[in-house]
This record gives sequence, C-alpha cells and structure tokens, in this order.
Amino acid sequence: MLDVSEEVRAEIGDEEADRLLGGDNAPGTYDCTSCRTPGNSERERTSTVLFVGEETAVLAFAHASCIPSQVVPVSEEQLQGAVRSITGGDGQQPQPDSDLPLQAELGVTSGLLLVGGEVQPSLVVEPLVPIARPGTTGPVDVFLELLSEQGFSTITALDQVPERLPGWSVLLVMGKLHAVLQPNANGGAPVAWWQAHQPMQVADEWRSAVNKSGRVLVFAAPVGTIGQQPREDLLREAMDRAAAAGKLVGAAMPLAGT
Ligand SMILES: [Zn+2]
Repeated sequence: MLDVSEEVRAEIGDEEADRLLGGDNAPGTYDCTSCRTPGNSERERTSTVLFVGEETAVLAFAHASCIPSQVVPVSEEQLQGAVRSITGGDGQQPQPDSDLPLQAELGVTSGLLLVGGEVQPSLVVEPLVPIARPGTTGPVDVFLELLSEQGFSTITALDQVPERLPGWSVLLVMGKLHAVLQPNANGGAPVAWWQAHQPMQVADEWRSAVNKSGRVLVFAAPVGTIGQQPREDLLREAMDRAAAAGKLVGAAMPLAGT
C-alpha cells in the first residue's frame, strides 16, 4: 500500500517506482520517518519519502497519515546521519570542532508551552550574537525586524496561538528536529532558514504533541532576551517578559510536507 508521489517518481525513475508499487522493493515493516513508530506497508498506506542530498539520495518510508510522499532536500551531512539511522549503524559520529561556530549562531530550544489555554509544542529561537541585516556588518541587532518582514507576528502576550506563516514549516526526520524551512525566493523546494548542525533530539511528549496538533509554534527573540532556561516554567516566564517588552515574534508552522 505504497504511495509514490510524482516528485518522488521523477527522482527515482519509473522503473524503480513501478518496482516499489509492484511490491518487489516494498519495505514490509519499517520505522516511520516522521513519528518513528513502526509501520507496515502491507497493512497500512505508506508514503515513500526521498531524502536528497548534494550527492546521494535515500528512500525512506512513513505512515501516509503522518506525511505524504515527497522529496525532502537535506544536507549531505544530514543524509549520512539519516542513513546511519535507517541502517541502524553507528550514530555517534564525532563532530569536528571546526563546525562548532556554525552551531553558535542560533540557539533553538524545544518546549511544551501553555498558549491560549492549550499545551502547544513550541520552538524558541534566539541568536547567540546580534544579527545584522544580510550584506551589512552593522552591529545593530535587526533579528526581529527581519522576521517581521518575513511575516512573523509580534507577540505581546502568550494568550493566543500566532498565525500560520504560509510556506514555512518544521522538518522532523526520524523523530528528530532537522530544520525550519522557509519558502524559496527562487521558487521550487523550500530552503532551510535554520538547520540543525546535528539533528536535534526532542522529548517524546513534544513529538507526540506535534503529531497530535500537526503544528509547531515558532517563537523568536533577540540575543540576550531569553537565554538557556533549564525548565519549561522558567522558559515560559522569560518569554512572558520578552513579550511584555515587545521583544518576541512568533508564527505557527506545520510539519514539512503536510
Ligand atoms: Zn508515522
């Protein structure tokens, strides 16, 4: 019971697509690439998901109820991680130190926040340095201004769910957070606005809340506003302070491909 979308078919070719649909290369049982729970392509509708890196591509499977069949662009590094995860190989690849500064640019925290009377799976994004407008070196921190221009709403109080931002989405792969995607200015597949240096582990409760609500609330604040908070209640207090100070923006985003 496999779904092979037109875009996946275009990438893998008619022959391979037909082999899959004919059952020859169907996976049987698999771990859903979205929710990570087991699936069975003989018993339930299953989406083929093709992860495409710069050099290689990996075919994976997901419950059709989780995500539709699609092509997901990822970095080669993420793809290798996905391959290790799919094949059950060594996932503990040491990261070279030289990559650490890249990680330092945006801090992303996942948490369950009470917004509008309901617990909402959220991401809180805060740069670790002031963000200048691209193409300038100005020390002025224009992070919120840039996000407002992209359509994020100013949050003055966390009493309602921010509006959905068209074209933006959150990419979970193998149950881990990979990226926040934004529309591609040149058309075509979305591009990463933020990309995890290493796929980010999220709590099981967070993941099941996302699977239930089908969306993630993404909040952002300028450098030095929220900081690293060890508990969700402290995170919430810091966000309330940021909102009251006019230093918080937010948007609701679906999971990539949904
Ligand atoms: Zn699933």
